[in-house]
Amino acid sequence: MTIRLILGDQLNPLHSWFAERTPGVIYALFESAEELRYAPHHRQKMLAFLHGMQRFANRLRADGHRVEYWTLDDPRQCGSLRGNLEALRAELEAMHGEAVAIEYQEPDEYRVDQALSGLGRCASSEHFLTERDAVQRQFAGKKTYLMEAFYRVMRVKWSVLLDEYGHPEGGAWNFDAENRSAWNPSQHVPREWRAHHDVRELDARLDRNGIPRWGDAAAEDFPWPADREEALALLAHFVDVALPHFGRYQDALAEGHDYLFHSRISFALNTKMLHPLDAVRAAEAAWRKAPERYPLPAVEGFIRQILGWREYVRGIYWAKMPHYATLNYFRHERPLPDWMYTGKTKMRCMQAAVGQSLRTAYAHHIQRLMVIGNFALLAGFDPRELDAWYLGIYIDALEWVELPNTRGMSQFADGGIVGTKPYVSSGSYLHKQGNHCGSCAYSVAEKVGATACPFNSLYWHFYARNRPLLERNPRVGMVYRTWDKMKPDHREALLEQANSNLHKINDL
Ligand SMILES: Cc1cc2nc3c(=O)[nH]c(=O)nc-3n(C[C@H](O)[C@H](O)[C@H](O)COP(=O)(O)OP(=O)(O)OC[C@H]3O[C@@H](n4cnc5c(N)ncnc54)[C@H](O)[C@@H]3O)c2cc1C
Ligand code: SF4
Repeated sequence: MTIRLILGDQLNPLHSWFAERTPGVIYALFESAEELRYAPHHRQKMLAFLHGMQRFANRLRADGHRVEYWTLDDPRQCGSLRGNLEALRAELEAMHGEAVAIEYQEPDEYRVDQALSGLGRCASSEHFLTERDAVQRQFAGKKTYLMEAFYRVMRVKWSVLLDEYGHPEGGAWNFDAENRSAWNPSQHVPREWRAHHDVRELDARLDRNGIPRWGDAAAEDFPWPADREEALALLAHFVDVALPHFGRYQDALAEGHDYLFHSRISFALNTKMLHPLDAVRAAEAAWRKAPERYPLPAVEGFIRQILGWREYVRGIYWAKMPHYATLNYFRHERPLPDWMYTGKTKMRCMQAAVGQSLRTAYAHHIQRLMVIGNFALLAGFDPRELDAWYLGIYIDALEWVELPNTRGMSQFADGGIVGTKPYVSSGSYLHKQGNHCGSCAYSVAEKVGATACPFNSLYWHFYARNRPLLERNPRVGMVYRTWDKMKPDHREALLEQANSNLHKINDL
């Protein structure tokens, strides 16, 4: 007899485990209080995972598999995954009088990997397009791990967007120069695909068990996909209506548009309802069938996020854990202001990005990177607290993908493994990419004074205070040349303004 553990992010019905019904195999899914508590999670995030697990268990039962699903209310609950597994094994051994083996799929998170290690046989999750150590092997001995180099290897390995001679379609590997336009407010934005589930019973279960959480539950009309069929419908809708504009508006920020032309498939991918090749092949097929409707830069840009970035950050995670979670290159220690948990700030761009995250458990990449992450880095937020924030709030947040994006790409806390320079900007970049500034209490044109955009002075404060760590970076040198050319009293006024902003950060 064998127990096969299925984790909340392993909801792939096509896994080879399920190809046959084996009477001696029991599939086990546990709602684990330990997992739900290890970071304060957004309500929608917890509901989406538990809802997906319930659906998955029901599907397995309907397909004739034996399933044990322990809810948080189950009297046998021990709280932790390992505890529950051991309790179920003891129960089955006592009942059947024979030894019970345990099998589990390779966990994606270091913490879970450690917790389950030694319990039984570990099988592949059959999800990713690379081995855990692929990035480490490709960049052995290098300081910076260049995503672009990794991505080209992946394009060839999986034969994606290649012509008959094995060359990149369109004559280039990357068309980003043609992507990333500023927002055009007259552009029509299609409605997003959404589910309509009632998960109030689940929400009540979380309440009953005192699980701490934040953000809107949206439990009466829950929008996130619950199984592979819904995830495929979400993907098909994206390819049909949004992919043609994906590249052009990838970095746009728009008042009143939560999703723009982004796919919202990250939750479905990270729970393995979708396989990465589902998305990659669907985008490539759309372009091959109707190149006049699907610009190659849009399709290549979308594919790069999944075939490139997603696999690459996973590789960084496994190459650098557990040390990676302790990195703090700039030694930033500022606690997060209260408005990171309420959205109540006068900075319109932050209000929109944080407010939306609380309402929907989602923000698109440029909001995560160039609005919230940008401000966090300029202001010097403690990366540990910031990690917990990102890990808690987003529907797709699992440590293997959240951590390299937050510590690495967004906060440069790894000193330049993921990125070659910090992603920071003053207000002018945000003004160029979107239309928040027009309705902001601050003026993006002003650098000092009561109504000056806080990003402007904090930008210079960041570079001035971190000069010893950044000055020799060839991609940053220009910034210091500009700073040095400023009149001393202007430099001083900028630093004073930034210090005043940092002093009253809760009131910004
Ligand atoms: C600070 C920060 C934290 C992040 N935390 C997470 C996280 O916890 N979980 C997560 O899945 N993504 C994370 N990302 C990456 C990215 O922002 C999200 O994957 C994306 O916004 C999800 O929305 P979407 O599905 O609409 O993506 P789209 O814009 O439609 O992109 C398509 C897919 O590409 C993949 N992708 C795009 N960018 C990245 C990236 N940088 N790293 C990995 N995959 C990527 C995702 O699977 C995404 O679903 C983070 C980015 C930043 C800057
Ligand atoms: S003025 Fe500054 S704070 Fe306000 S929306 Fe623009 S960039 Fe954001």
